[in-house]
Amino acid sequence: MIRRYVRRSIAWSVPGITLSVGSMVYALQYQKPTPTEFATFLAIAVPGMAMFVLGMMDLARAKRRHPAWGLLGIGGLLGAVGLLLIPDQSVIAASVCCTKCGRDLDIEDTACPTCGATRD
Ligand SMILES: [Zn+2]
Repeated sequence: MIRRYVRRSIAWSVPGITLSVGSMVYALQYQKPTPTEFATFLAIAVPGMAMFVLGMMDLARAKRRHPAWGLLGIGGLLGAVGLLLIPDQSVIAASVCCTKCGRDLDIEDTACPTCGATRD
């Protein structure tokens, strides 16, 4: 997987899933929510879902897949599991090594993250 997208995916999806779970916990307190309580639920749930989907879009990018695969994130953790099961195409593309230190390079690296050597 392409590391910088994996990092960004985690940065979006962890707060996203936290807000989503938080909105569910909040919603469980009310059997008949008032409009204000429902609006509060939406104010937590919608950004949480959006952040989670953005994270899943980056997870798709990390696997060199079209970002639209990230829409599986609408399915929550089940969608995330589905996305994780999709074969990683970055492995095929990443058979490039640093000519100086031999580290495996991501296809999008212009310089080696270890020794800083620029790619030919
Ligand atoms: Zn290197």
